[in-house]
Order: sequence, then structure tokens, then C-alpha cells
Amino acid sequence: MSKILIIEDEEAIAALERDYLELSDFEVDIETDGAKGLNRALTEDYDLLILDLMLPGMDGFEICREIRSEKDMPILMVSAKEDDIDKIRGLGLGADDYITKPFSPSELVARVKAHLARYERLIGTGARKNDVITIRGLKIDKTARRVWVNGKETQFTTKEFDLLTFLAENPNHVYKKEELFREIWNMESIGDIATVTVHIKKIREKIEFDSSKPQYIETIWGVGYRFKA
Ligand code: CA
Repeated sequence: MSKILIIEDEEAIAALERDYLELSDFEVDIETDGAKGLNRALTEDYDLLILDLMLPGMDGFEICREIRSEKDMPILMVSAKEDDIDKIRGLGLGADDYITKPFSPSELVARVKAHLARYERLIGTGARKNDVITIRGLKIDKTARRVWVNGKETQFTTKEFDLLTFLAENPNHVYKKEELFREIWNMESIGDIATVTVHIKKIREKIEFDSSKPQYIETIWGVGYRFKA
């Protein structure tokens, strides 16, 4: 199922777009603020973006430019004014299509389908998508072994990456340090399990906003750690 993000501050329009897209079996999320929408488009996995031009927080021009420098995904720009569409074209921001309000929802759905089909042809049906885990502001590309924290790529050592990925893939499960040590270091737990503590500390410094109040990896006192999904 294809996932679509709508960045649109007029809630009635956003809801109408969503309803029609859901009828065609698309999974749809809505953001009404420009900056939040951009963050979401960059950190989560969407197949297509429907982007309104005039938005609070950050306008559609800027969002389109930012996304184009980071991601290859179809962008459909929506505007209330025909003049703006000419302006967008002139700027060469790389939007894939433009649609003027008011538009018929079925026209929008048809265009969404056409662009998704075109991107699929470009990427090639044989191409395999990377295996990506996304949890709130954290994105782990297992295939490329890359990690982004709130949209910013962050470096992890091999073991830090393995430990973080293992925990993120098994959320809400409490693991003892011994279990994590066996799992990641692939040894009987006769080694130094303090290694686990050290690695958790390093990971937290990279992913947590405040390491003393972790939002991702919780310490379960006397037991071990749990990744909060
Ligand atoms: Ca608007």
C-alpha cells in the first residue's frame, strides 16, 4: 500500500483529499504546519507528497526545495492561484505536478496514481527497497547501515548500530544486559557486560534529546533495557 503525506493547512481540504485517497486504498497522513510537514516528509517513509503552497511555519516553495535536495519522491503542488503555478514552474523547484484549487478530488486521485506508476517505472520493479525502521524522529536504514536523528544523519560504530537496530526491531521488550551482550557480541556472557552499558550510553548521547530522560531506550532498573515504540 502506498503512503501519502498531505501538507495542507486548510483542514477541510486536507480531509477531503484524504477521504478520496483512502477510498483508493492509499494510506494517508496530514500535517497542517509547514515545518512539521517537512520534518515528517524527511524522516518518515512516504511514496508521494501533496504539498500546499501557502502554509504556516514554512511555505511550499521552501519545503519542495528542501525535499528535492534529500529525497526522490513525487511531489504534487497545490495552489489557490494560477499565477503561483507559473511562479513555481519558473523557479524550477522540481515539483512533479501542479494542481489549482478548487479541483475535483477524483482528478487528484488520478494524478496521484499516474505519478506513483511513473516513479515505479523509473525505479524499476526489480529494484528492492531498503529495509528501513522509522520510530518517531529516528530512522534506521538497515540495508545501507545509516541512521538519521530528526532528519540529520548521525554516525554510529558497528556495535552501536547493531545494538540500536536490535532494540528498535524489538520494541517494548525488556532485555537483560546479558541477553544483549550475547545477541550483539555473539559470545557467552562471561565477557564484560559493562560493555552493554557503555554502548547504551553512547547511543543515548546520539539519539536522545536529553540522555537523563531517555525517550527511546529506557532503563528498567535491576533488569535491563527496553526500547519504547
Ligand atoms: Ca494554504
